[in-house]
Parts: sequence; structure tokens; C-alpha cells
Amino acid sequence: MKALVRYDTKPETLEFQEVPRPRLDDTHAILRVEAVGICGRDLEHFREELDAKKVPFIPGHEYSGTIIELPASETRFKVGDRVTAETVDFVCGECQVCDAGNYNLCKKRKNISGGMNGAFAPFMSVPLKYIHILPDNVSFEEGAMIEPTCVSYNTMLVNSDPKEGELTVIIGVGAIGLLCLQMAKLRGAKVALVGLPIDEARMKIGKELGADYLIDAEKDPVKEILDLTNQNGAPLVVDTVGGSAKTIDQALEMVRPGGQITKVGWFMKTTNTSLDTLVRKNVRLQGSFSHTHQMWKECISLIADGKINVKKMISNVLPLEKWREGFELGFNRQGLKVILIPEQE
Ligand SMILES: [Zn+2]
Ligand SMILES: [Zn+2]
Repeated sequence: MKALVRYDTKPETLEFQEVPRPRLDDTHAILRVEAVGICGRDLEHFREELDAKKVPFIPGHEYSGTIIELPASETRFKVGDRVTAETVDFVCGECQVCDAGNYNLCKKRKNISGGMNGAFAPFMSVPLKYIHILPDNVSFEEGAMIEPTCVSYNTMLVNSDPKEGELTVIIGVGAIGLLCLQMAKLRGAKVALVGLPIDEARMKIGKELGADYLIDAEKDPVKEILDLTNQNGAPLVVDTVGGSAKTIDQALEMVRPGGQITKVGWFMKTTNTSLDTLVRKNVRLQGSFSHTHQMWKECISLIADGKINVKKMISNVLPLEKWREGFELGFNRQGLKVILIPEQE
């Protein structure tokens, strides 16, 4: 099959290559991939040097597909089922976090597209344990949006607590930022979205999705938030920006004493941010990573019930062969979520 392969550790070594089709085993199903999203993380990875032990591999972790092969012993699913699946391939099941149900944090966790092959391919192998059926009214494209929805659910509704009528600041207007906005609106929070002038189109979508304030990141976002809150600061600031340390400094200035900052965007580099403001303001800094089975169930219902709009996040749908164009749309921020469709073989 023809798949998109990260073949070397050096940046930008990604190429469409002929590779063997995945083979069936007792614990996995084979999917025909129907749709796969390009994640901000895929873009960051593309330009990064990777560990030698990681390559070669097929990236792509936001996907949906049709089951085409199953082990004979499988009873939960059948061939032809429309599904999506989590990004985890293996966890130990025995450590303290696994025991508490937080297997997303298992140290022995292996990820799909993080060493294991992912979904930028016509076929992929997925662990039966982490498959979820797509409701009939959820399209394959929307199915590929469930993973980022779960990331946002964990960020906003598990690791943060946006309160009705109170201000939540969301920095960054990628798909995660706009999904976090929708989650905060489910709780009735007032939301200020902080984005760059280049993100005008995304900010507009944010407005349509219920953002109360649109704030230009290049003006003085800290002052804007302080002005909105009687100089007190916001009780909750969520930093969804990846690859930058500047936003965490801003978050520290915007947050109210005793408030919380939740960080979901990866720094991808070391930062020399001083945490003295964190100490002085008695602020809680909370990370948020990945998701669990229960969150997947909740998010699938939220999408099927029309409470979270993922369709609005999809800016472009392209064939997988046009991945370069899709990546460009991400880099120059013309696209919001670009979905790739593998050619059926
Ligand atoms: Zn992602
Ligand atoms: Zn474990």
C-alpha cells in the first residue's frame, strides 16, 4: 500500500512510499482508513529532529475507518462497522495510574503514530480494546475530529473547571482552542479568545461558536484581560499554543490570584519562564494530556447530539496524496482542520 512514511530522524523526511499492508493478529482489527486529520503536533513533528528509535513510522492519529478484518474470536465488532479509535496501542494495565483508570498516563504506554504506525495510510491496524463505533449521524470526517475533541474535553471539563458567567481565557485558535471554547460554553462560561491577526478567519469561527470577546494577541492581551476583569485577572486561562513559551508568560500575567492556568499546547523547547508570578499569585498550573475511554464515550455523544460542532472546524478535505498541500495549509494557517482521505486500493 502507499502510505505517508516518516523515514528518517531529520526534519521534513516524510514521503509517500510503498509499504506492506498491516497484518491481522489476535488483539487488533484492520481498518480501511476513511478520514484522517492533520494535527498541529504532526506539523511540529514534521519540522523536528526525531529519536532514532522512533523511525520509520506512519504518522496520523486523528482518524476514522471501516473494519475490514477481525480476529475470529472477536464478538463486539463486525466487518463493515464504521469506527474510530483512540491513540493508544498498549498500556501495562498494572501500574498505579492504569489501576486508577488513567491509562493515558501509563509510563509504558505505546501510541499509535508515536512509534506505532498511524493513519496516513489506506489501511491500519488498531487495538480492539480502544475501538469506538461511530453513530450513524456522525460522518467519517467528523469521526476523525473525535480525538481532538477528547483532548479538549480533558483540558476543559476534567482538568479545568470553567464556571458559569465567569471569564475563561483561551489562548490559541487552532482546532483545540476552538473546541476548548465550545466545552467552556457548555458550562456557560464567558470566553475570551486570544489569537493573532493572521488567525482572523479562525477568530470569526470562534465568534460564531459563542466567543464573547476576541482579543488580538499582538496588541496587549494582558491589559485587555485585566480591563475586562476590573484589573483582577481571569480565574481560568487555558494555553493551547504549541511551540511557544511567550503565551505561558502572558497567562501568568492574566490569571487572577488563586486562579488556574491549564497548559495543553506543547512547548517543544526549554523555556526560561520565571515561575515567581505563579508563586506570588498562588496560581495552580495544570497540565492536560490525552484522554481515556470514558471521555471518548462522552465526546462521541456530544458530537452525535449536536452539542459540539466539529463540522465547523473542518476547513479542507484533500486526498492523502495531497498531504503537502494540507501541511502547507496548516503552516500558513489558511486551514483550520485539514482532513486527508486515503485512496481506496
Ligand atoms: Zn492531535
Ligand atoms: Zn500502566
